[in-house]
Amino acid sequence: MSQAEDSRAPTAPQAVTPFAGPASLRQNELSPESLYEKCTALARNLWWSWHPEVTNLFRELDPVRWRQLDHNPIALLAEFTPQRLEARAAELVLYTRINQAYRRLKEYLAAENTWSNVHAGVLGSKPVVYFSAEFGIHESVPIYSGGLGVLSGDHIKSASGLGIPLVAVGLFYAQGYFKQQLDIDGYQHEEYLQSRVDTLPLEPAVGADGLQVTVSIDTRSGQILAKVWKMAVGRVSLYLLDSNVEGNSPEDRELTSRLYGGDTRIRIRQELVLGVGGVRAIRALGIVPGVYHLNEGHSVFATLEAVRGRMDRDGFSFDDAVREVARQTVFTTHTPVPAGHDRFDGGLMEEHLGPMRDGLGISHDQLMGLGRVEPHNGSEPFCMTVLGLKLSRRANAVSSLHGNVSRKMWSSLWPARVEEEVPIGHITNGVHVPSWLSWQMLQLYDRLFPVNWFKRMGEPDVWQKIHECDPGELWEIHYALKNFLLQFVRRRLSRQCRRRGESDAAVEAAQSVLDPHVLTIGFARRFATYKRADLVLGDLEKLARLVSDPDRPIQVIFAGKSHPADEPGKGLIRTIANLHHDPRFAGRIVFVEDYDINVCRHLIQGVDVWLNNPRRPLEASGTSGQKVVLNGGINCSILDGWWAEAFDGRNGFAIGRGEIHSNPEVTDARDAAALYDVLEKEVIPLFYERDADGLPRQWIRMMMNSISSLAWRFSSHRMVMDYARSCYVPAAGGLSCDMHSR
Ligand SMILES: *Cc1c(COP(=O)(O)O)cnc(C)c1O
Repeated sequence: MSQAEDSRAPTAPQAVTPFAGPASLRQNELSPESLYEKCTALARNLWWSWHPEVTNLFRELDPVRWRQLDHNPIALLAEFTPQRLEARAAELVLYTRINQAYRRLKEYLAAENTWSNVHAGVLGSKPVVYFSAEFGIHESVPIYSGGLGVLSGDHIKSASGLGIPLVAVGLFYAQGYFKQQLDIDGYQHEEYLQSRVDTLPLEPAVGADGLQVTVSIDTRSGQILAKVWKMAVGRVSLYLLDSNVEGNSPEDRELTSRLYGGDTRIRIRQELVLGVGGVRAIRALGIVPGVYHLNEGHSVFATLEAVRGRMDRDGFSFDDAVREVARQTVFTTHTPVPAGHDRFDGGLMEEHLGPMRDGLGISHDQLMGLGRVEPHNGSEPFCMTVLGLKLSRRANAVSSLHGNVSRKMWSSLWPARVEEEVPIGHITNGVHVPSWLSWQMLQLYDRLFPVNWFKRMGEPDVWQKIHECDPGELWEIHYALKNFLLQFVRRRLSRQCRRRGESDAAVEAAQSVLDPHVLTIGFARRFATYKRADLVLGDLEKLARLVSDPDRPIQVIFAGKSHPADEPGKGLIRTIANLHHDPRFAGRIVFVEDYDINVCRHLIQGVDVWLNNPRRPLEASGTSGQKVVLNGGINCSILDGWWAEAFDGRNGFAIGRGEIHSNPEVTDARDAAALYDVLEKEVIPLFYERDADGLPRQWIRMMMNSISSLAWRFSSHRMVMDYARSCYVPAAGGLSCDMHSR
C-alpha cells in the first residue's frame, strides 16, 4: 500500500478550505526529531492500525510483549527508554522504515486533494458530527462491543481516507465491554478490566481557555458532569465523554465505565451524556456542525440540545428550530425488531429531560409526544428511534431488505402514506478494506490492481483484475492464511485449557486440533439467539457424519460473546463449547474465547467458508461476511441482511431461498434442513473437487467471483461516499438527487 495512498485523489484540488485536522497532530508535527518522538507520534494516531507496515514496526520492536499488550503501541513504547529504542532500532535496521512511516503520516494529514474536496466541497469548514454509542477501531482501544461499534470505526476511517470533514462523538468506557472466559462446564463468565488512560491514544480536548472541556447536564435529581477526551483516527477527531469527574456522585463517576452494562436508568443517563453532552462538547470546542449524523437511536437526544441551541442563539421559535435541525440531521436505524429500540417511561424522561423541556418551552406531554407514534397516547413510552425519525429529514436503514422491514415497522408514523413511500431509505453497510485485508492479499492486490487502487476501492473496475490472477497462486496464499488461523486457534485453545486447569494431556491435545487440509467453516458473532449458532447442531448424527467423513470431512471454529444478561445466549455457548467432550467432535469443532476485533481478523482472513444463519429478516446487515470476501473466503448464508442483495448464484452459497414461516420453529427446522442440504450438495463437493494439480478450480473461480462482485460494493468507502452524496451534501445545503429526503 506504500505507493497507493487513499488520501490522494487524481484530480486537482478545488478552492475549498479543508476542515483542519486534529490540532494536537499539527503540534506533534512541529519538530519531533528523535526516533522515540516519531514512534510516539505514530502510536498516538490510530492511522497506524490500518497500515500493516507500521503495525509490523511496532511488532518487531518486541514481538512477545506486543502480543501480551493487546497490540497496544503506547503501552509498548512505555517499556522503552529513548536510548533503548534507538539501540533496538539500530539492531533491527528500522531507522528508514520509521522515518518513512512518519513522513507518510505527515503527508496524509496534510493532503488537501481528497475525494471529498472534489465531490463534497460544500461540506467546507462545517463538519459532519457523527454520533455513536461505540467505536470499534482496534482491539487495543476497548470502547466497542460488536457490529455497531466496528461499523462506526470503519465509517470514520473511510471518512478520514476520503477527506470528509467529520468529527465523531462517543463515550469513553474505562472498563469497555467484558472479557469472556468459559469455565470447565462451558459457562460464560465476564471480567471487566480497567483501562489506563495513559496507555490509550487519548488527550484532553481543550477549549479556548486551554483547559480540558467539561460539560454539565442538569436533571431534576442533580447535575451530571462529563469531561471530554480526544482521539486521533487519521484525519478524524473522535471526542469521547467521560463521567469519571470530581464533582459527580460516586455512582455517576461510574456512569460511562461500561458498555450496555446497566439498567434503564443508567441507559438514559448514558444517552443523555452522549447526546446532550456531546452537542455541548462540540459547541465548547468551537466546532459549528454542518450536519448531524446519528448512528442508531442512542444519541438522538442530541437533536433536542441542537434545537435548544438554535432557539437560544438565533431566536427561533421551537417549531422553526425543529425544522432547521431536522434539515441538518441524518438518522441511521439498525434494529429490525420493535423490542430492540430504546424506550423510556414518563418518569425517567421527566427526571432526565425535565430541565431540557423547560429550556425548550414545551410541556411534558409535548416532549413525550416527540417520542411516540401516537403523540397523545399516554400509555406509550418515549422511543428514541421515533424521536430520531421525527427530528431528521433523512433516515436510512442499513441494507435493502432492512429498508423494507423498517418502512413497514414505522409506517404508522406516516399514516397518510403507503408503505413504499415511508421516507426511510437504505445505505448498505460496508467494511474498511485496509483494516480487514490480510498482508498477503494486500501484496497480491498491489501487484495485480492499478497503482492507485487504494483511492479507488469503491469502484468495480479495480477488482475485476482478480480474474487475471493465477489460480494456483491464489490458492497458495489462501492456504498460508488458513495455516496462520489454525496456529492462532491452537495457541488460544491451549491457553484456555491451561487457565481452566485442565490436564497436561488436554493442553497438549489443543496444540494439534484442526487440519489445514479439511474444509474449515467459521461462525463468529454475538451469541444472540436469533443468530442461531446452534442451527448446524440441529441433527447431531448428521453433523458427526460430516465431521468425520473419511474423504471429505469438515471442521468448524466458533467464537462469540453473549450479553451478560442473556441466559439463553449463554446456554448456546455452553452447548457448543461442550462438544469437545464428545469424541465425535473433539478437535473438529472448537470454541475460541473472547471474540473481539483481533479474533475476528484472524478468523475472517483464514476460513474457507463463513457461515451466517440468522432468522430472517432479523439481521439488519451484518458485516463480518464482507470482511471474509476481501481475503478469499466464501460466504454461506441465509438470504438476510447484506447477503440478500449480494448473492448472485456464483459468488457464494445461499441457505434456502429466503422463505419465512410465521412459526419460528418451522422456519428453524426448514433452515436447518436447507443448511445441511447446501453443505452436502454444494459446499463440500465443490471444495473437494480437485484437478490434476490438486487445485479446486471451481472453488477458486467462486473466490474470484466473490472478490470481483462484492469487495467494492461492500466497502465502507462506497458506503461513506453514498452517505456523502445522498445525505451529507444535501443536509449541508448542497444539491443532490437523493431519494431519502422528505
Ligand atoms: C465485524 C465485527 C462484528 C460484526 O459482525 P456481524 O456480521 O454483524 O455479526 C462483530 N464483532 C466484531 C468484533 C467484528 O469485528
